[in-house]
Amino acid sequence: MVASLYSIKVNCLNCNIEFETLKPRSKFCIVLSKDTDFCNHYKDYVNPYFYEVYVCPQCGFAFTENFNEKLREDVKREFYEKVALKWYKRYQYSFARTLGTAIEAYKLALLTANIVKEKDWVIAGLALRLGWFYRYQKNLGNELKFLTIARDYYLKAYNEDGLRGYENPEITILYLIGELSARIGDNETALKYLAKVTEYESREFHKAIVNQARDRWYSIKELARAK
Ligand SMILES: [Zn+2]
Repeated sequence: MVASLYSIKVNCLNCNIEFETLKPRSKFCIVLSKDTDFCNHYKDYVNPYFYEVYVCPQCGFAFTENFNEKLREDVKREFYEKVALKWYKRYQYSFARTLGTAIEAYKLALLTANIVKEKDWVIAGLALRLGWFYRYQKNLGNELKFLTIARDYYLKAYNEDGLRGYENPEITILYLIGELSARIGDNETALKYLAKVTEYESREFHKAIVNQARDRWYSIKELARAK
């Protein structure tokens, strides 16, 4: 096994079998740069994002730590009909992942999340990662396609009070809605949500993100004016 990776055991949420999957050791994950939507660029592709999705080799169920652990019987049946029935046993996701296999694993997770009706912020997070993966590939068309899906699901989660269990403070989602809107060319929504972030001004621990939102707000305004 590659020294930068170690093996963990995971139980499939659907068929319950135990399988092995890999994780990168954090000391090997070296951040070279960060984008304004929090996308990290890692040295030598030892990238923790690649391994956040677990793919069951037996049934094809693809999930992350954020998925609901209990699946309803009707959902299991739907998953069986749409995925498991056509799945043949495969182990390629249990080894070191390339950008290509990471994209496949996340697409499987996005498909699974839609079938099991995962929380909107979970679906948004998967789409956001896919957008970043296409950014690594310099495939702008697909990057924007997945950033749009992410933005729409974050917006839905925020507006429909669907943030239960969300791993970060609410301000992060407001910032991401603003930032992703700017990237997909929806400046009106971008300015509105980045301005909302700055309302958190008085809370000391949000200082960095408030300042970043203000910087982004001004640069989007500037760009719009220059056009
Ligand atoms: Zn399974």
